[in-house]
Amino acid sequence: MATEQEKIKRRLQELLERPGNGNCVDCGAADPDWASFTLGVFVCQRCSGIHRNIPQISRVKSVTLDGWLAAEVEFLASTGNNAAKDKYEPKVPPFYYRPTHTDCQLLREQWIRARYERKEFVHVEKQEPYSAGYREGFLWKRGRDNGQFLSRKFILSEREGALKYFNKHDAREPKAIMKIHTLNATFQPAKIGNPHGLQITYLKDNSTRNIFVYHEDGKETVDWFNAIRAARFHYLQVAYPGANDADLVPKLTRNYIKEGYMEKTGPKQTEGFKKRWFTMDDRRLMYFKDPLDAYARGEVFIGSKENSYTVLPGLPPSTQGNHWKFGITIVTPDRKFLFACETEEEQKDWIAAFQKVVNRPMLPQEYAVEAHFKHKP
Ligand SMILES: [Zn+2]
Repeated sequence: MATEQEKIKRRLQELLERPGNGNCVDCGAADPDWASFTLGVFVCQRCSGIHRNIPQISRVKSVTLDGWLAAEVEFLASTGNNAAKDKYEPKVPPFYYRPTHTDCQLLREQWIRARYERKEFVHVEKQEPYSAGYREGFLWKRGRDNGQFLSRKFILSEREGALKYFNKHDAREPKAIMKIHTLNATFQPAKIGNPHGLQITYLKDNSTRNIFVYHEDGKETVDWFNAIRAARFHYLQVAYPGANDADLVPKLTRNYIKEGYMEKTGPKQTEGFKKRWFTMDDRRLMYFKDPLDAYARGEVFIGSKENSYTVLPGLPPSTQGNHWKFGITIVTPDRKFLFACETEEEQKDWIAAFQKVVNRPMLPQEYAVEAHFKHKP
């Protein structure tokens, strides 16, 4: 005879088989083995930890390790992930960033709080901070040269098509104007050394500029991020009339394909190898002396194989000087770029990152970027 608890556990396993319950309701991770018995959803272990921080909204138990009451399980049966999505996210703006299981803690936590705690996607008026087309406030911004974070006023204005910041509180002229059409924002807590650290990049004279900001309040930080995405979305809707949301949404903000240290040598390949921080942002491979530098020392454009770009493991036999063991050669129509990685794993990861863009045909607008790099002195 099965005990009562065994029957309940079997019922829980059945519920996990139902459509929608096979992935974490919050981050999409496969095979969730925790559940909130107050919200009626199945979640992964990492998201269950976030739910635990909001006990007034959500109470969680392990599907396998905890004891369950029949009433709790019946509530899960009457709800489930699909029904909860209908209930808590009927009005998510198309530009609003939905985190996945690989995103930072802040994005995942704020997504959970926005839905269940603040009910932002039920009450549209709560979306004003990122939907109004205008936002201003103070952010802590890392100083360009001294690395100190100072409080700076920021204004995001869709009407002006720009994000601006001001160095002095009473300054009339902004310190920088970042055009929305060149703007990118990506959370980089580890690199910035702050759990709310946001990297904002923009192009100035076709060179990449970085600023690093955060707000003490997680909601404020994520609101800024989604306000930038909203501004980008509305800009792209005008720039690409007729494009549907699904085409535009992946273009709102980009996470980097890969970042890390490699060694590089100059165009003559006799200068010796120097260690630099590399960032692969779509087809732009940028390098910096320090990961938090304001601007790139240099950039390499990586086109497609149809346009004579090739990535090869190893270095040409004639390569001189001391360098890390695991080489990579990027052949472009103009010249060869030589890189060296510290480990074989890094070499493999970088080659995979480069191959990703080499294997993808170039878009019309990417030819203009390529032309700029070719004509750079
Ligand atoms: Zn999850």
